Amino acid sequence: MPIRWRLTLWFSLILLIVLTLTGGVLYTVLQSYLTNEVDDNLRAYSAHVHGTLKSDELPQPLDYDVIHAKLPLVNEFASPGLYIQILDRNDVVVVKSDNLGQRELPVSPTLVEKGFSGSAVIETVPSGVDARVRIMASALYLRDQTLLLEVAQSLKPIDVTMSRLRWALLAATLVALILASLSGAGIVRRALAPVERISRIAQSIEASSDLSRRVAYKGPSDEIANLATTFDHMIEHLSKVFESQKNFIADASHELRSPLTVMQGNLDLLKRKISEEDRRASKKSIEAETERMGKIVNDLLLLAEVESGPVERRETVSLAGIVLEEVGRAQSLSGNRRIVVGRLEGLSLSGDTYRLRQLLSNLVDNAVRYTQDAGTVTLSLVRDDRWARLEVADNGIGISPEHLPNIFDRFYRVDKSRSRAGGGTGLGLAIVKGIAEQYGGKVKVTSEPGKGSTFTVWLSI
Ligand code: ADP
Repeated sequence: MPIRWRLTLWFSLILLIVLTLTGGVLYTVLQSYLTNEVDDNLRAYSAHVHGTLKSDELPQPLDYDVIHAKLPLVNEFASPGLYIQILDRNDVVVVKSDNLGQRELPVSPTLVEKGFSGSAVIETVPSGVDARVRIMASALYLRDQTLLLEVAQSLKPIDVTMSRLRWALLAATLVALILASLSGAGIVRRALAPVERISRIAQSIEASSDLSRRVAYKGPSDEIANLATTFDHMIEHLSKVFESQKNFIADASHELRSPLTVMQGNLDLLKRKISEEDRRASKKSIEAETERMGKIVNDLLLLAEVESGPVERRETVSLAGIVLEEVGRAQSLSGNRRIVVGRLEGLSLSGDTYRLRQLLSNLVDNAVRYTQDAGTVTLSLVRDDRWARLEVADNGIGISPEHLPNIFDRFYRVDKSRSRAGGGTGLGLAIVKGIAEQYGGKVKVTSEPGKGSTFTVWLSI
């Protein structure tokens, strides 16, 4: 069932419960108020009769006409429909008020029995078709006789009022329910319209695979706007991911194709009759390209691995130890360049030695590769709050500001031929970034062309 109808049904049901409860309470309170009012009236009048009929003022034996004459007058304006009737022990009506005419009040055996036993009782007794009377019975001791005084009031006006009230409440509840359901359904439909629009757009994006489309919701800033904006951001993000994935595949294919082309050319050459010297040169070139392809493939695998999630912190790694090892390795490869250690604090963290070594060697290889002969590469390791801060600074060629935002992208190189000549694959810094992020950290660069660059990596300890 659509949410629109479910909501409408729910609040109609709640409204029905509230109206029924309110109506029920109103009905019961009013009925008991009106009945109490009748009872008070009966009690007051009964007391009045008892006070008027004094035993010693009546003849002996009793004369019912005298009693009738002494009955207090019923005030038809103050208490309309109030009747009096007196029965003797044989349930025979001996006295009754004039307004009863030829009729008599209905006789209820329980009322008679309880009344004669001495307790004053009030009861509702049916009288004829569609009518009820409220009767109060009490014993009347006159001279040597016990009579039963019945004071009664018709409940017809109250019954008519209550019946009208019942119909009025029923009609009001029905009208309120119909109005609330119709207007509620309208309001819910209007409130949910943007959600329907969003899902229509989402479906059409899915059908057309067009990630350039957006919901672009215009409306009050509420939960729906929030949903639409989140949806747009998600599509934006997915679109970027797909775009970068596409570029990455194109770049990787391109990078792998050039060594393959060189190898293919050399293999063709080897099939021909060529001098021994050319043959050696071709073989060397094939070897070099195979090595290059191997490096690219290895770097691609490593990148895929480091980008797959946070590192498993399985062993304690001495960062200071790795820095010192790396200095030793770099010194043997760096020719006339000086590799020096700046500040070195004895920091350790739990992680993966191989990957951390890889991170540092990528930075140091770059520093050596892009620093001229006799330049200096400085490594330092310090604690920065809950981070280990690793720095590789050189005084080499530096990087111009327009390239800085891109150098951590895969296969991005400022000078492709220089990178290739130095054995770079264009993936080194992307791997560094991936490893730093595996440790919840980041990598930053500051650089000035001609003066050198400093790469700083933060790793959480
Ligand atoms: P590569 O394998 O080409 O070195 P990287 O991802 O490691 O690829 O680096 C990307 C590019 O950033 C390099 O091609 C180079 O232009 C620039 N770069 C990296 N490190 C340095 C550095 N220390 N000094 C100057 N340029 C650098």
